[in-house]
Amino acid sequence: MREPISRDARLALDLALTLRHDGNGGVADDLTDPVGLSAWVRAHAGLLPAGARDRAGHPDPVRRADRGDTTAAGAVRPADVGARGAGPTAGTAQLVAVRELRAAVRALFARAVRPGEPSPADAARLMPVSEAVRRLNETAARTPTVPVLDWPENAGPVLRRQPVHGTADLAAALAHAAIAFLASPDRDRLRACHAPRCVRYFLKEHPRQEWCTPSCGNRARVARHHERHRARA
Ligand SMILES: [Zn+2]
Repeated sequence: MREPISRDARLALDLALTLRHDGNGGVADDLTDPVGLSAWVRAHAGLLPAGARDRAGHPDPVRRADRGDTTAAGAVRPADVGARGAGPTAGTAQLVAVRELRAAVRALFARAVRPGEPSPADAARLMPVSEAVRRLNETAARTPTVPVLDWPENAGPVLRRQPVHGTADLAAALAHAAIAFLASPDRDRLRACHAPRCVRYFLKEHPRQEWCTPSCGNRARVARHHERHRARA
């Protein structure tokens, strides 16, 4: 039986997974520019609080001012429109905040998995844990929240965090999800996949799961087979 994955776990994991194997032995990054971040936000719109996903759809006014091309408020300049033609992109300041958060999250994921078993993509370049915790908490504090009780008619009561003022900042919303996930029992199911070339973290969905996907399992078995034959030769 498969164990479900919570919304918080899904967001934290998917943020980490924007660093991924590129298919050629290297590591690809889905968040190298605001267009990439906007695409990621669109793909996760259903999981993000309204303010976070809406704000990510608008160009960052601070950045526009930096470039000296401020126009009538809210006007979208061609440079702000995604190259994929799917509307305005997220701002650069937002991209920096999300990337810094991702580095912190991956450092803490590396700590959460069994000792000495972080993703190979992280083994050589991890942020110190104390700095990662500080950065995660500082990012979460960009949107101060209060706890609220949500008790729907046909379900049990749940604790939600609601922004004190207005709407949630994207990086803050992701930091809240990462904190909730890391402090939950779900953390014990977190693993780094050690199939050849894979750099993914994943959440075990059943007790005997060893690889992030069946295709990684196949690659790992083939590699072990070759390893054994080489040892005998
Ligand atoms: Zn894998």
